[in-house]
Amino acid sequence: MAKILAVTNQKGGVGKTTTCVNLAASLVATKRQVLVVDLDPQGNATMGSGVDKNALENSIYDVLVGAVDATAALVPTDPAGFDLLPANADLTAAEVELLEIPQKELRLKKALTEVGSIYDFILIDCPPSLNMLTVNAMAAADGVVIPMQCEYYALEGLSALLDTISRIVSVLNPKLKIEGLLRTMYDARNSLTNEVSAQLVEHFGDAVYRTIIPRNVRLAEAPSYGLPVLKYDKHSKGALAYLALAGELIRKQELVAATA
Ligand code: ADP
Ligand code: MG
Repeated sequence: MAKILAVTNQKGGVGKTTTCVNLAASLVATKRQVLVVDLDPQGNATMGSGVDKNALENSIYDVLVGAVDATAALVPTDPAGFDLLPANADLTAAEVELLEIPQKELRLKKALTEVGSIYDFILIDCPPSLNMLTVNAMAAADGVVIPMQCEYYALEGLSALLDTISRIVSVLNPKLKIEGLLRTMYDARNSLTNEVSAQLVEHFGDAVYRTIIPRNVRLAEAPSYGLPVLKYDKHSKGALAYLALAGELIRKQELVAATA
């Protein structure tokens, strides 16, 4: 059964989508079967995977409202190499329409149960809010990956997110864990960044990934070509960092499996 990870942070622009697409491509490079679920109406993960969000036959919206099965919305990506449940602006309506549907928090979980068995990893790209879509992601997931920029307000937003996660654990999904906090867009020349990073490690210890994602222009350029950075500039610092993250994730999982 797939390991399902929700990549989430209610702050926008912290690197959720970049992490989803590039971690997915890096996991594919290690021969894992990977599914990316785009759960943001902006459809950035969809476009960044080389799929035109304006030309979709079916999207994750149709799946969540029960119009089609998940398999009918799946698209393979090339050359990224993972499967995608794509999104576009239609998904904005799902938030309201879900309210009318029984078990509205569990729609994604149900959909992923249908397709999950063929994947090693499922990565869910969450929207920048703690709305019903994010609740669906956390209800379906085994773990939460939290990308964050090490800046002054980052820690403030984190407590609201951690509160939400605890609520989900007690009400909807007792197995949900914090898989890891990921430092993104890191600029080691900035002393405040280093300070916040040190606080993060002090407070969260092993929950902070050792891998740090540096600020790297190749990571910002790749999506405009519909490519993960690994297929755009595989020697870039960004590509190497996400490969390292995939390695760390896999080792962490093997360690857990060995001690279970
Ligand atoms: P989110 O999904 O959290 O809103 P994105 O992944 O879309 O954040 O990132 C926000 C912007 O920052 C995008 O333009 C993206 O290309 C850029 N970006 C993300 N990570 C990096 C990085 N490590 N280095 C440089 N630019 C980055
Ligand atoms: Mg995004």
